Amino acid sequence: MTRTADVAIVGGGIIGASVAYHLAALGVPRVVVFEREEILGAGSTGKCAGGVRLQFSSEANVEMSRQSILAFERFEDEHGVVVDFKRTGYLFVLGNLEDYAVFRNNAERQRALGVPVELLTPAQAQELVPMLNTDDLVGATFCGGDGIANPHAILEGYAKHAKRLGVQILKSVEVTSIDLAGDSVVALDTNQGRWQVGHVVNAAGPWARQIGAMAGIDIPVEPVRRQYFVTKPMDWIPDPFPLLIDWSTGCYMHKESGGMLVGESDPDEPPGFGQQVDWDFLGRVAEHGSHRVPLLAEAEVLRGVAGLYEVSPDHNAIIGAPATVPNFICANGFSGHGMQHAPAAGKAVAELVAQGESTSISLDAYAFDRFAREQMPEFNVI
Ligand SMILES: Cc1cc2nc3c(=O)[nH]c(=O)nc-3n(C[C@H](O)[C@H](O)[C@H](O)COP(=O)(O)OP(=O)(O)OC[C@H]3O[C@@H](n4cnc5c(N)ncnc54)[C@H](O)[C@@H]3O)c2cc1C
Repeated sequence: MTRTADVAIVGGGIIGASVAYHLAALGVPRVVVFEREEILGAGSTGKCAGGVRLQFSSEANVEMSRQSILAFERFEDEHGVVVDFKRTGYLFVLGNLEDYAVFRNNAERQRALGVPVELLTPAQAQELVPMLNTDDLVGATFCGGDGIANPHAILEGYAKHAKRLGVQILKSVEVTSIDLAGDSVVALDTNQGRWQVGHVVNAAGPWARQIGAMAGIDIPVEPVRRQYFVTKPMDWIPDPFPLLIDWSTGCYMHKESGGMLVGESDPDEPPGFGQQVDWDFLGRVAEHGSHRVPLLAEAEVLRGVAGLYEVSPDHNAIIGAPATVPNFICANGFSGHGMQHAPAAGKAVAELVAQGESTSISLDAYAFDRFAREQMPEFNVI
């Protein structure tokens, strides 16, 4: 038997759940989420480190964050779930004058956009983090509007509210093929039957390219493993402790359940779907982390986490349809900031489906076909 969905969302992570809720809130009927795993959030969302920041260098990303932060602040009232958004601030510490100059320029632009970013001396940075090693720092930036939130709670809030509004969320249902008629997607097959569809939203995170290929669309998104480690609780960590990023090494950390979550990106990590924790990598993270915060040298590691970033050529999201298949909407390539942009991005995707181009946030910078023209400039990628 063939069933019908006005909108079929492939992927039950934070993006799929946000799109589903926002579609239902706009009154779009017959919205169906297809998630192949037994639970929602089994993909990147379940590995997310929880960082939320206004400190992006591009206007589009600043606006995406600003709208999303407003949504996090209203989240409990609107969805009945506490997402623990804490404005701990993000502290970027800078080890050379070249990076400092870039961050100073970014800060000017961010302030012009209303983002309360401060330029700090190393001594001022140490006032925020007393145990910070500032010996080799030239400066820092801090934005008290940044912080951390709970990705699981955000996903749960959107998914539960979407269900209350009539969205069907199907777990253990894998989309296996997509059919087109002319330039339109018209149906999809799953391991549990066929569906006629009005629109498809690709919210498959690191698997976005595979879903695109089913519709003959090449989506330039690659899965790349990213890892972090969580320590046992330590009583010297102050509260609040900002999300600290050592820009020279890419090592970042924030307080997590009384301990520290410490990670960094490996620029040499090749694309691939592997999600094994590489315990050798812990040595590098520990070296960089304890150089910046020497007390970390005594930390005991509780667990390692490895997940997949979904990386686009310019490390920014791809939101919208390709010109060749206008009813196949991508919400992909968030490259490490999909959790914090899920509210605004999900709303914009829902508006695209329901209202066409008139979205409440400009999506020009995220256009599917931008790579043929120019890449979106964003320096602050972690
Ligand atoms: C280690 C790590 C740390 C991160 N830290 C941050 C952070 O601090 N802040 C931040 O904003 N972001 C962070 N991110 C990024 C963020 O987690 C992602 O951008 C976000 O979760 C992407 O959500 P998604 O819903 O698009 O993808 P996912 O959560 O991966 O969901 C996609 C879903 O699609 C499903 N799927 C795939 N193929 C099919 C199919 N054929 N049929 C049905 N279902 C299918 C998958 O099972 C999966 O559940 C981090 C990511 C990682 C890996």
